[in-house]
Amino acid sequence: MPDCIFCKIVAGELPGEIVYRDELVTAFRDIRPVAPTHILIVPNRHIASTNDLTVADEALAGHILTVVAQIARQEGIQDSGYRLIVNTGPHANQVVFHLHLHLIGGQRLRYPMG
Ligand code: 5GP
Ligand code: ZN
Repeated sequence: MPDCIFCKIVAGELPGEIVYRDELVTAFRDIRPVAPTHILIVPNRHIASTNDLTVADEALAGHILTVVAQIARQEGIQDSGYRLIVNTGPHANQVVFHLHLHLIGGQRLRYPMG
């Protein structure tokens, strides 16, 4: 997707502090972190939002969740805990239309954010 920031980070065309990468997903630090750990996990392939996932993406969607645990261990927050957020559309204030899961932790979080 030509003008997609996250496609460009995945492709290495824009800088990103990448913390994990495999054949299906890439994870990098959010540019405006809301907590000590704030990582975005994105599919390498452009998918705009959860609205665009199909049955064919079930393995990918499941994989994203298993990668979460790996990154949490890597960050040392598996026991202290963390929050996962996926924003879809205007009411959720989705800003970047390339599906991403926020992994947020490193401090106690108030609900729903911060
Ligand atoms: P959304 O509201 O779409 O779920 O969140 C988009 C997230 O992407 C925001 O937390 C924002 O800080 C982050 N973000 C936007 N542009 C960039 C960028 O160029 N690089 C990185 N690493 N994060 C970005
Ligand atoms: Zn994209």
